[in-house]
Amino acid sequence: MNRLFFLSKSRAIILLILLSLIAGCARSPRRVDQDMSGIFVSPQESVSNFDLSAVRGKRIVIDPGHGGKFPGMVAPQGSREADINLKVALFLQNMLQEAGAEAVLTRSEDRDFLGQNRTKLSHDLQARIDIAEQAQADIFVSLHHNASAEYDRTTRRIETYYKMGDHGPSLDFARFVHRHLVRNLGIPEHRVEPGNYYVLRNNPFPAILGEATYLSNPLIEEKLKLPENQRLEAYAYFLGIVDYFMAGLPHIEIASPAENGRLEVARPLIVAQLRDDRIGIDPDFISLAVDGLPLPYRFDPTNGNLIAEPLTPLLNCEHKLCISARNLNGNAAVERSIFFHIDLPAARIKLTPVPPRLQSGLQSLCVDVADRNGNPIADGSLVYLHHPNGDTLSAAVSNGEALFYFHNGEAADDPLHIVARCGTVVHSIDLTSIPFDALDSDKRYRHLWVTPVQSEPAWVTVGANFYQCDPNGHVWFCSAANSDIRVCNPGYFPFHIEPAGGNLGFELNAELEPVAGGCLHGIRIMLDPEYGGKESGAVGPTGARAADVNLKTAEFLGKALESAGAVVFFTRMEDREVSLAQRVKLSAESGADRHIIIGHGESGSIYVGHWPNSSKGAPLAQSVAKAMSHGRHNKALVREDTRYLLRQTACAAVYVNMENLASPDKEIELISPAYQRAAAYRLFLALLDHYGWNETGSISGEVLDHNRQPVARALVTLDELFTLQSDASGRFRFERLGSGRHKLEIDYRQYRAKKDVEIGPGVSDQITIELPPGVVR
Ligand SMILES: [Zn+2]
Repeated sequence: MNRLFFLSKSRAIILLILLSLIAGCARSPRRVDQDMSGIFVSPQESVSNFDLSAVRGKRIVIDPGHGGKFPGMVAPQGSREADINLKVALFLQNMLQEAGAEAVLTRSEDRDFLGQNRTKLSHDLQARIDIAEQAQADIFVSLHHNASAEYDRTTRRIETYYKMGDHGPSLDFARFVHRHLVRNLGIPEHRVEPGNYYVLRNNPFPAILGEATYLSNPLIEEKLKLPENQRLEAYAYFLGIVDYFMAGLPHIEIASPAENGRLEVARPLIVAQLRDDRIGIDPDFISLAVDGLPLPYRFDPTNGNLIAEPLTPLLNCEHKLCISARNLNGNAAVERSIFFHIDLPAARIKLTPVPPRLQSGLQSLCVDVADRNGNPIADGSLVYLHHPNGDTLSAAVSNGEALFYFHNGEAADDPLHIVARCGTVVHSIDLTSIPFDALDSDKRYRHLWVTPVQSEPAWVTVGANFYQCDPNGHVWFCSAANSDIRVCNPGYFPFHIEPAGGNLGFELNAELEPVAGGCLHGIRIMLDPEYGGKESGAVGPTGARAADVNLKTAEFLGKALESAGAVVFFTRMEDREVSLAQRVKLSAESGADRHIIIGHGESGSIYVGHWPNSSKGAPLAQSVAKAMSHGRHNKALVREDTRYLLRQTACAAVYVNMENLASPDKEIELISPAYQRAAAYRLFLALLDHYGWNETGSISGEVLDHNRQPVARALVTLDELFTLQSDASGRFRFERLGSGRHKLEIDYRQYRAKKDVEIGPGVSDQITIELPPGVVR
């Protein structure tokens, strides 16, 4: 008789519940879901199909990732990634050496590369690149094993990363290795991706980084603990490397011009040698460009000679020559590029005084110098100016111009004879002096000096005319005595010169004051509006797209940052698709100091993500969350975030999930410039905080109509730089203001009001602006 018959019905149910509880609580990996048949079994390929001589004499640098203080990821049963990377690397080195290659390991024991004054991870990684440089590697391969950030223990994907931006040899090499990893490890999930890892980004040689599989998967860990499986993985890398070299390695050598050579011809002959050790160069895949413009060339396949000549004379400056090629198997050569200078001597010179007639005070002279083709001579060439009093001044040419200044004190009675010389060419003029009081004082040359002198010269508006200061901050202009003058330069507050008592002086000075103490001057910020093009991101109930809201918010933020003197870059400035890899590449190329991803979600609250433990990303995220939390019940959260962009960007980065588009009301709010301006301003304040601007003054206020009802969406501009819009209750608020006088402008329809507000240190002022009758209808 069956024992079950002796259990009462209720007891059987309890037993079932207990059994299911035990199963649910168990923390063992879900083995049943994973089909491990065919994985790490035996190599699918026989070495006899490969020509091992292809790797003979090749210099291959193998970098077992991590080691010493850096164990890498630690697998569920305690295996350290650093150890397994090293064991695979030792097998691989052995195989390559037996085949006659020069295989160099960056480390052959459990060690790091820290030491005195070498305390950071980047020092450890740089040491590995130094080893590759010393070896003059043909290729570099870094061996790793991955960990799933989501603590998912079933992931086992093969990921092969190539040096981001190198679609030549690094990508070729990655594809070969990847193919053999996939074939021989038997893992069906896999992908090749651009990688921005330190050892790839800073590597001068073709470089890849293999995450052969995921060590966070306990079943994989069990396999990789066994030497035969480490050897099997090494074997897959080995076959990939052999296969890559079997396809041939094309080489480019530039014979002339010489690197950094200075040439006195405007159309230099370009000569290069293209070689390939196995199959030959593909004549259809050669490209030769000077300064990015392709040039026609002659290529002789019999001896590999490549010859070209610029079609028109090159300008006197630095030029870049770039040559790339592929062989007949499609393998790319390492692209070669050199810089050279064209430096033709001066053939023409012309001296121009500004203003044209001498007056008391500072006098400026401009000397233009050109070569025999009429092109400006090279920057940095020296021009000499001889003054009749015996002085000789010298100045360097920039854009074909040299500028001179001298104080002539009281204007002389006799004409001044001035001589300019560059090389062998000379020009002289007589400067006629005009007595001070002989001129109509209403319309005269005035001299304005703008300080501090900036790399990007300031703009001066006089009436309806624009002038730009010269590189030393000087500008001359002709104006009436009662002209209004306004000086503008990004990063500084606009400066006004108002005629005192209805009369401007002749010598004027503008001392500009930096915005936010100059804390953002020169800081490079990449703004990254999420999604775009076909990728809408979240879509609101009536169709508003996150991609659009992100872009507009980024644009407003960009304007604010530029006003404060930051150098701003965008991953996109229109509605188009940009891949994550492209965004990383743009960020790296821009040399950004910070990367800010702007997103609007489908649901959920505001949060700021940063890469775990990022030393600069985490404090930036804190600043952003603090600024975003202002005046809200639900404070913005800071989260660790392992998304691709935060992992791959070279600089500190944050992901800001601002508002969400979930409800129709929210959607309407988010597509209004009022919201976008306000959101951008919160991010701007966060960056001021992040870069140490601690002033706490503020001006807040409300805009009312003549019946004292709130007016929404009136434009309120602070100090001619930052514009907000009043919210639904008519309110606005500017923060982090230094003490002193601030200007407010309020615009609503055709109406404009101005208000000066003086605040002391840390003072918050409240103002009310009442619009006159008739403005609000
Ligand atoms: Zn690793």
